[in-house]
Amino acid sequence: MARLQARLISQLHLYQVLHAVRLARGPISRAEICLSTGLSQAAVSGLTRRLIEDGALVEVGARPSAGGRRERELAINADFAWVLGVKAAMHQLTMALADFAGGVRHTLTLPLQAPLAPAALITEIAGAIDRCLNGAPAPAAGRLAGVGLALPGFVDSLADVLLWSPVLDAGSPRVEGLGRSLSELLKVPVFIENDANMLALAQQWFGPAAGVGNAALVTLEHGVGLGLIINGELYRGHAGLASELGHLQVVPGGQPCRCGKSGCLEAYVAHYAVVREGRVAGLLPPADGRAPADDTEQAYRTLAAQAREGNPQAVRIFERQGRWLGQWIGNVVNLLSPQAVILGGGGTSAYDLYQGALHEAMQDAMALPHRGRVRLTVMPQGDEVWAQGAASLVLQRLDESAETLASVSRHGLLSDTPSHRERPDA
Ligand SMILES: [Zn+2]
Repeated sequence: MARLQARLISQLHLYQVLHAVRLARGPISRAEICLSTGLSQAAVSGLTRRLIEDGALVEVGARPSAGGRRERELAINADFAWVLGVKAAMHQLTMALADFAGGVRHTLTLPLQAPLAPAALITEIAGAIDRCLNGAPAPAAGRLAGVGLALPGFVDSLADVLLWSPVLDAGSPRVEGLGRSLSELLKVPVFIENDANMLALAQQWFGPAAGVGNAALVTLEHGVGLGLIINGELYRGHAGLASELGHLQVVPGGQPCRCGKSGCLEAYVAHYAVVREGRVAGLLPPADGRAPADDTEQAYRTLAAQAREGNPQAVRIFERQGRWLGQWIGNVVNLLSPQAVILGGGGTSAYDLYQGALHEAMQDAMALPHRGRVRLTVMPQGDEVWAQGAASLVLQRLDESAETLASVSRHGLLSDTPSHRERPDA
């Protein structure tokens, strides 16, 4: 028991050191690591020695001398291992291969025709990953240490259970061991997570939420998502079911939602909901049966073009979308008081059309002390950011597990990089 505890503490300290170096976003001295982790000089010295021996950290130089001893600086060894982030959307799979420092080295987007049965989804994803690795700079496959898969819907990431997702057909309400099945095919650990959670993690590591204790990331595209960083940690709630902003019921008995309920926020602001309104208004041709998701995205863009040309009905639809979204983002602020509120996802492509209504509704919904203080940051578009989030999750899981770090070294992933102790860009 005591040995187990000692090992866990040692792992925790390794993670703290690695994380401190990662968050520094540049070379950091051992003294600075002591400051940011609260660990003693002797502990940091021992832990950094171990991380350098494992290959996760590198010494990159020394601080200019101020008369005394020149202090060596440390950085993440970007080539230590690579991770792959995959974002599954209804109409496409986006992949980003990132190095150990989180730098994106290669990306690939392939079409997907969801919803699919679980086995077909696994086959599609595994095939897409193979293609991504084959097209990446050599030797990507040999250096891959893990895969993060971002999925829309209810994901119990810790139990590896997909409770519900729009990418699965209606006959597959719950899939157990999705990550494990992919892991058996790919021979590396695979972690699954809700897509908005992944994006929140990426913003905490690499984006506007870096160094911020409490942040809310709202995503708008085919659905609506929310990723919450609370007290510096991703908040998942029981069974990963927390922060489902899109499925808050805003109109009892209202519009049907994809999740099976009615009156969810998503059923008023997601792309499919906006397109539905466009169809009802006669601005878009009626749907013939179940339109594929890429048709919905195309229709959303068509409607946006009509609004930009001044069609008053189309303008009103986007304004209504902004009001709904603004009201509920304002309520999220009331509930959690985040320092950073970020809006991301493909829906920001029509941001110019709903921006005004959103801000007005958000201010109106927020309690007086928040007004004029809480600002909304809009993330750049592109599915690559999502995939980078998925890569961040893998990096976090690898950092947390000293055993995984050890296994990366043991499998000789670095044997083909004799210069891994030098920075590639140095
Ligand atoms: Zn719903």
